[in-house]
Amino acid sequence: MPALKELEEAFFYSKKDKEFQRELRHLQKTYIGRPTPLYFARRLTEHLGGAKIYLKREDLAHTGAHKINNAVGQVLLAKKMGKKRVIAETGAGQHGVATATGAALKGLECGIYMGTEDMKRQALNVFRMRLLGAKVTEVPTGSRTLKDAINEALRDWTTNVRTTHYVLGTVFGPHPFPVMVRDFQSVIGREARRQILDAEGRLPDYLIACVGGGSNAMGLFYEFLKEDNPPTPPFSKGGKEGLLDKDIKMIGVEAGGKGIETGEHAARFAGGSIGVFQGCKSYLLQDDDGNVLGTHSVSAGLDYASIGPEHPFLKDAGRVQYTYATDDEALAAFELLSRLEGIIPALESAHAIAEVVKLAPKLDQDKIIIINLSGRGDKDVQHVAKIKGIEL
Ligand SMILES: *Cc1c(COP(=O)(O)O)cnc(C)c1O
Repeated sequence: MPALKELEEAFFYSKKDKEFQRELRHLQKTYIGRPTPLYFARRLTEHLGGAKIYLKREDLAHTGAHKINNAVGQVLLAKKMGKKRVIAETGAGQHGVATATGAALKGLECGIYMGTEDMKRQALNVFRMRLLGAKVTEVPTGSRTLKDAINEALRDWTTNVRTTHYVLGTVFGPHPFPVMVRDFQSVIGREARRQILDAEGRLPDYLIACVGGGSNAMGLFYEFLKEDNPPTPPFSKGGKEGLLDKDIKMIGVEAGGKGIETGEHAARFAGGSIGVFQGCKSYLLQDDDGNVLGTHSVSAGLDYASIGPEHPFLKDAGRVQYTYATDDEALAAFELLSRLEGIIPALESAHAIAEVVKLAPKLDQDKIIIINLSGRGDKDVQHVAKIKGIEL
């Protein structure tokens, strides 16, 4: 609790600290490469024959995904708090790479915890983190994957809290992490809102994002959830009435894996129930005794037994809908976007595209969808080749 209190205080102070905010904005622009473009996917739109589809290009952020937005924010905060060292958990290695990158940028020591299984599957990312100067520690306990790595990172943090900050990678865990990570990711939605008003003169009808822990989805949705946004006037460009933020439909897409009935998935809403795990109360895949169940997804970034607690809140409030895409649907979307737009998406992001493949043809051509393209697919190319039985 003292560590969390200290962090909460520093975080809320940083929100009002002009110097902190100036440095964060400067790094977002000159280091991460923000604003990322909002791209009109013309060929995908024509292919599906319905709503206009825009992609928010987080795949073009430094290190190839949205995770860097949070990592840079938290590393900056750690530095301000006088910490000498940051640690992080990682599953597929994406958040480990982002944290190691931020640590190199600010000259902090970096320790990454990773399950033995994940280290084997993600040998290239382990090497990448080491190149960036991080010490990668193997976690051989439990299922030897992400949840065990989180346990170890929490243990390390409580032992070394005076010198160390724990950079949690998504909108999960104990307060203030869900709020803080959302805050660092909400730059995505702030940009997207401005960009769609520039491009179309009105707000979108749908926002769609994949949901692992839920940070890229919260990052896109949050700006559009504010109730005090002024109504957008009817703009001349499209001649449409301005939508209100509250009329925008939002959809989070979880990993349906091999199908809900098989039990091999990570669809916490479709297959889980409320539980307490790793510092927060949320939906959880668990058995009747509260033991955490194993999960499966073709995309490592969505393969986790629980979900950030703000998502159940938004679901219960009826504000965001949640659905899932299966491995096969995501793989088909992965290939479709590559062929039609010359953009190879991360397998995680391909889940959001898979939902749009189902949705867009049912909508009129004057409707607008924004998909959060959370990351690029270079990391997944080898994995997809293997699934297709292709030797590289
Ligand atoms: C980690 C990751 C995700 C899932 O994490 P969220 O916190 O749900 O955003 C999605 N897409 C990519 C590219 C990732 O690396």
